[in-house]
Amino acid sequence: MLTLLLGCILAAMLYYLMYSALRQWLLAKETVMLELPLLGQKRKGSRIQGTAVVCGGSLSGLFTARICADHFDKVIVVETEDWLSQEDGVTSQRWQDAPARARVIQWKSAHAWLVFLYDALSRLFPNLLEACKTFGIAIVTADIGIHITGKHLTRPYIHGSHFGPNGHPKMFSCSRPCFESMLRSLVLDPDSYPNVSQISGTATGVIESESGKRLQGVIVRTPEGIESIDATLVIDSTGPAQAIYKSLPSAPSLDTITETYHPKMNYCTCHFTMTPEIAERVPISTYLLPAAGDISRCLIMFRQDHLSMAVSCGAWGAAKDLPTTLDGIRQHVAGVGYKVPQFIWDAFDLLQEVEDTVTSSPVRCPASFWTHYERAANKLPVNYVAIGDSVGRVNPVFGQGATKALVGSTVLNTALHGVQGIDDDFAKRVHTAQAARMQRFWEGTKIADYAHKTTIPTEGETLAFGKVLRTFTRYVEILATTVRYLHFSIVVHGRLSDHTTPTGLLCW
Ligand SMILES: Cc1cc2nc3c(=O)[nH]c(=O)nc-3n(C[C@H](O)[C@H](O)[C@H](O)COP(=O)(O)OP(=O)(O)OC[C@H]3O[C@@H](n4cnc5c(N)ncnc54)[C@H](O)[C@@H]3O)c2cc1C
Repeated sequence: MLTLLLGCILAAMLYYLMYSALRQWLLAKETVMLELPLLGQKRKGSRIQGTAVVCGGSLSGLFTARICADHFDKVIVVETEDWLSQEDGVTSQRWQDAPARARVIQWKSAHAWLVFLYDALSRLFPNLLEACKTFGIAIVTADIGIHITGKHLTRPYIHGSHFGPNGHPKMFSCSRPCFESMLRSLVLDPDSYPNVSQISGTATGVIESESGKRLQGVIVRTPEGIESIDATLVIDSTGPAQAIYKSLPSAPSLDTITETYHPKMNYCTCHFTMTPEIAERVPISTYLLPAAGDISRCLIMFRQDHLSMAVSCGAWGAAKDLPTTLDGIRQHVAGVGYKVPQFIWDAFDLLQEVEDTVTSSPVRCPASFWTHYERAANKLPVNYVAIGDSVGRVNPVFGQGATKALVGSTVLNTALHGVQGIDDDFAKRVHTAQAARMQRFWEGTKIADYAHKTTIPTEGETLAFGKVLRTFTRYVEILATTVRYLHFSIVVHGRLSDHTTPTGLLCW
């Protein structure tokens, strides 16, 4: 009897140890959760001599510039859109007045800011809350109101306490122009980061060392003429333009290292300007998603800064006719094919009062892609790193773009903490570590997109790819709307909050 008891205890201990080890291994491999404490930490020893040149001054460029401020003597951001280097680029003005972005088609699309962003940025910017206040950015409980085929996902319990309403985690609630301008004002604050500056210019080329192994500088076309900037590290944050990679003389052609498929998905975001009374009564955040495997429409609604309500209608396979009016939105939602919760119709009724304030921003989603720099690492300069959408672009339905960029910057931060200078394996290590984290953004979205028959799959694949995982996800999603205390909803919330892995049950 005693032997049996001891055997059971031993087996339980072994199971627990194996579970813990597997969980830690997955967290380390697939996420940057274990690296978060290093964000904003002072590096051991002095800063790396020379300049980190960050090409592209949008989300990933700004995240990366902040990271590099801790590690390099000097950081220069090169941004081609001139107004972003002027006062307009850092102002806390109303989003409606923000100038258009020539190269960022989603500038006025509804953006979700997943919880990872709040968590990581609070570590990087001690004055984050103050900046949010100045820019009118609300910090809200990160229950983004996910509904799968009309059923609200039960909110998960974390460490024994309920997810919201006053609890954690938190997220930002604001428009893209507001978020980006706040981020830029924080990063370019000369008092906090005197070693960071931004110049207006287009990165047009690179200067290689004689061996071709290292970049010595970046060539920039500025309003004053052509300049070359010496560089210790070059970061390609030029988004889908992948401008620096394309200028590398010895790099393999992008086609040979890029996976691509086309989700054929379009969005149209309508913005309504509400009265304070209406703003009080509409939900902060609502996601109406199909279960993996059916229905080709979604609705994403966010209350944003300055009394704005963003209502984004999305559809797989629809080439045109996404709504630009409240009536059109009602029809879009009526056609989702399942019962839509009453509070959404009530919110539309409230918006009726301010219907005439509507402006719209349609976006036809380009193909999704993932460039595997890690596969070409031996042929790339050892001090060239790509972060953000220059690594890959996914269907934004789960709102992961900014998170993906900050995950990349976090990987870079960890790598920089481990070196005194940029060694010959530096870029290879960063690209390999980043690719391991990119996997879940890519596959999770791809598997969801492959459920829609209008998706054009990656060459050599069929839409059957990922069927088993899709079926698993479908059942998890169904359970997540019904089983309150089990952790199923964590998997789905996790996908949207990015605190988990595809094997998310193990990893909260
Ligand atoms: C419809 C839609 C909705 C989205 N919704 C969300 C969401 O809800 N949440 C979310 O997190 N993400 C969302 N995204 C994705 C997110 O917007 C992107 O992932 C994010 O913008 C990527 O940032 P980035 O800095 O890598 O690239 P970009 O934002 O593309 O920025 C690239 C920058 O580089 C500059 N540049 C280009 N070439 C050069 C050059 N040669 N020299 C100097 N500068 C150059 C450009 O001017 C630009 O400023 C959405 C995307 C779309 C299409």
